[in-house]
Amino acid sequence: MRVLKFGGTSVGSVANINQVISIVSKAAENQKIAVVVSALGGITDLLMQCGIEASKKDEYASIFEEIERKHLDFITTLVKDDAEALAEIQNLLNDLKSLLQGIFLINELSPKTVDKLLAFGEILSSTIIVRAMYAQGLDATRKDSRDLITTNDKYTKAGVNYKVTNSQLEYYFAKATQKITVLPGFIASCASGETTTLGRGGSDFTAAIVGAALNVEQVEIYTDVSGMYTANPKLVKQAKPIDTISYHEAMELSHFGAKVLYPPTIVPVMSKNIPIRIKSTLHPEEPGTLIQNQEGINENPIRGLSNINNVALLTLEGGGMVGIPGISKRLFETLSNQGINIILITQASSEHSICLGVMEEDAGKAKLAIDEEFEYEISLNKIDPLTMEIGLSIIALVGDQMKSHQGISGKMFSTLGKNNVNIRAIAQGASEKNISAVITQKDVKKALNSLHERFFEAQRKQLNLFITGVGNVGERLLKQIEQQQDYLKKQLNINMRVLGLSNSRKMLIDENGIDLSNWKALLEEGTPVTLDSFHSAVVELNQRNSIFVDITANANVAAMYGKYLKQSIAVVACNKIACSSDYDKYNELKHLSKTYNAPLLFETNVGAGLPIIDTLNNLIASGDRVKRIQAVLSGSLNFVFNNFKSGDSFYDVVQAAKAEGYTEPDPRIDLSGVDVARKILILARESGLKINLEDITNDPFLTQNNLESTDVPHFFETLKEDAAHFEKLVADAEAKNHRLKYVAQLDNGKASVGLQSVPEGHPFYDLKGSDNIVLFFTERYPEQPMQIKGAGAGGDVTASGLFADIIRTATF
Ligand code: ADP
Ligand code: ASP
Ligand code: MG
Repeated sequence: MRVLKFGGTSVGSVANINQVISIVSKAAENQKIAVVVSALGGITDLLMQCGIEASKKDEYASIFEEIERKHLDFITTLVKDDAEALAEIQNLLNDLKSLLQGIFLINELSPKTVDKLLAFGEILSSTIIVRAMYAQGLDATRKDSRDLITTNDKYTKAGVNYKVTNSQLEYYFAKATQKITVLPGFIASCASGETTTLGRGGSDFTAAIVGAALNVEQVEIYTDVSGMYTANPKLVKQAKPIDTISYHEAMELSHFGAKVLYPPTIVPVMSKNIPIRIKSTLHPEEPGTLIQNQEGINENPIRGLSNINNVALLTLEGGGMVGIPGISKRLFETLSNQGINIILITQASSEHSICLGVMEEDAGKAKLAIDEEFEYEISLNKIDPLTMEIGLSIIALVGDQMKSHQGISGKMFSTLGKNNVNIRAIAQGASEKNISAVITQKDVKKALNSLHERFFEAQRKQLNLFITGVGNVGERLLKQIEQQQDYLKKQLNINMRVLGLSNSRKMLIDENGIDLSNWKALLEEGTPVTLDSFHSAVVELNQRNSIFVDITANANVAAMYGKYLKQSIAVVACNKIACSSDYDKYNELKHLSKTYNAPLLFETNVGAGLPIIDTLNNLIASGDRVKRIQAVLSGSLNFVFNNFKSGDSFYDVVQAAKAEGYTEPDPRIDLSGVDVARKILILARESGLKINLEDITNDPFLTQNNLESTDVPHFFETLKEDAAHFEKLVADAEAKNHRLKYVAQLDNGKASVGLQSVPEGHPFYDLKGSDNIVLFFTERYPEQPMQIKGAGAGGDVTASGLFADIIRTATF
């Protein structure tokens, strides 16, 4: 004998019912089977809604018509010309209509009536399905579960009388001759013969009750997903079906919200050691999940994650609670008398407060009852009136083996913290099979996905990018990301997605990842943007591992970093402004980065794609000390002086450098040495110095006349006027067989920038084109410095520097 249960979605369409019949007929080939069915998908909710409307004397007719139409559509499509079947359904619908009229007239919907009403869902569905089975020539009979399952009269969630129920089931099936018995799930009756129900989702329970009474080998639950997953697959795309799971783990997961299994379902089968198999109706060939006596062999101590939404947190607090016995007893009794289920309890060891999680719908009732119970203590100010917070969810980590593994809660909370998920309360079951946390409901998806990534996809990490500035460098970065996406997935297990793009006018946000082959056109069609609206959109999307990438040179964008870091969003910037502005600002950003566990990376601020800052950080982290830095850090100035020979016009050389994009739009920023000063400032700060731009000695090679120029064209004019000054600089150097290099230095805590003439043989002498070079003289590299040399400017190399920083965030 086998028991197969089909849930609401499995019987939610005519095609699905046909699929159910095909599974059933195959299963019945060589043994008898019991088929437990739910109401047609969505019908129980509609019945409830209809009953509520009727009891309020509102319009309920339209909802009834929807219910009626759906059942009539199903029966006529499934059995075509079977007038008897049609009449049977029509009669049931008439009964339902009469009941609703009764509710309407008496203006009341008691729990007893709710059960009568909701029962129509399963009665109708089982009737339709058995009729469809006849139509296809199957040997099937419908048996009303109310004749077989006996409960107490706790309407809407009745308790089963197993003794009576088991003997009724055994007796009936011992005598039944048909191959297939179709039973409505969810419904039962109490001793007085009134209809009861087993609680919402209770058809799973019906199957387990029947399976246990008949001692079947296995209870099979067919639903719309291929088993019990590591997390709700509707919220966590990466969730996978669990092969095998213990009864306790399955119970714990379902208690904490895994709707795929109604929690009490485990009870009757566990005592008899009967496994449950959860499978997909549409993919019955997939193995699904086996719930059995022991957990499967699995390295991972965590079996799954689950969540309950619409939770309220109630806190009872006050000095008068300390050391007074009986407070918790009174609290729990009060809630129990109100029929309120407590999902989570935490009590501070000081006994100063007790925190309870209950469903939001019960919170108001709970507050009234508790405040009344403690009225006396509240009037004496010994206990505060109960505080109530709503809009919360509980997330839980479940696994039998968690108790023998240390550090799981640490990992859980650091993962949530890194993603800026605020934890309101924590509870750990005494059996250590679960750790649960109360968080804001809006963070649930992010929390589950980050925990899933942390515990189930140890290798795989998703990086979610939000990029501002899509000029030359931005465009190349997007190209590199598009080209490397597959490689990153396969080789580094990184799933890099761009979810947001913006320029100075528009922004584009796509939760599923922007199509990088067409981003330009998509961004053009985007919405108008401000720095704040982009930030709000990023925060609103609330994705784990979010990274803000600044590819502008804009001070206002740089001023936003703090706001991102405070949301635990990483910042990757090639914009130098933030790190070279006032020391206190730089320090504050570093501090925020640490506090909120959000990387702040700016490798491209110095030497474009060359790994200069990273190397410096690594030297320091490994205990080395920087004694001196000597560097050529300006691609622009190097280009200018490499092309400037005695007899040339300095004006022409600078014009050419500007035309080829080697200088800033305003070349004075490069030629005055300010840009280089900012770079050595950043290296000095990263070496641990508390230093500002004013502290850097800048001995300009420009003339006063150049420096006082009013605008760029005027500046170029002054270069012409002072041609002799530049000729002398280069001629003097050439006379000594030297070359001119613009050098930045940090020596003994003092930084300086300026033009130097370097002799042949000097490491800077042969520097080509726009190359940069840095020499780190440290305790470990005292005479022969560590050298980093290569292209220090250009779109592609800068983009690869940003790319490297983005990857670096993954290892934080
Ligand atoms: P049925 O109508 O077949 O009883 P339910 O809707 O009651 O189906 O349960 C199946 C649903 O449970 C899935 O579609 C999924 O959204 C939800 N669910 C929540 N958590 C889990 C989980 N851990 N594994 C599988 N499904 C889950
Ligand atoms: N139809 C009932 C419900 O929706 C029982 C079930 O489907 O398991 O709650
Ligand atoms: Mg269900």
